[in-house]
Amino acid sequence: MPDTNQDCLFCRIIRGEIPAKKVYEDEQVFAFEDIDPKAPTHVLVVPKKHFAGLKEARAEDAEWIGRCHLAAAHIARQRNIENGYRTVLNVGPGAGQSVFHLHVHLLGGRALGWPPG
Ligand code: 5GP
Ligand code: ZN
Repeated sequence: MPDTNQDCLFCRIIRGEIPAKKVYEDEQVFAFEDIDPKAPTHVLVVPKKHFAGLKEARAEDAEWIGRCHLAAAHIARQRNIENGYRTVLNVGPGAGQSVFHLHVHLLGGRALGWPPG
């Protein structure tokens, strides 16, 4: 198990201490349904290594972030939402980041407006 953080909500979900509806898992990535979905598909894809967010990421974290995005693409393909979906990283409280373990939101299954709010 890569580095996890004792008290972090998403690390606790990864370790199975808090229940979540798992969608996908591999060596580096864990994906689960968002508890408060904003679209028919709203999946959170997180690296199994704890880091707070994109601001805190280092060059050596590139693979973790890339793997999260590739997993999101895989899930979107499986769910047949490839006509249009969005991957979102909220970075910092001003952008709505509320959980400080990097996560990619995968949103799809409905029309998605642009620009996002
Ligand atoms: P953020 O606001 O940090 O970009 O995204 C955090 C996301 O985590 C939100 O969409 C929120 O609904 C989701 N979330 C918060 N707590 C839990 C939880 O305990 N379980 C699950 N599955 N999702 C959660
Ligand atoms: Zn964490």
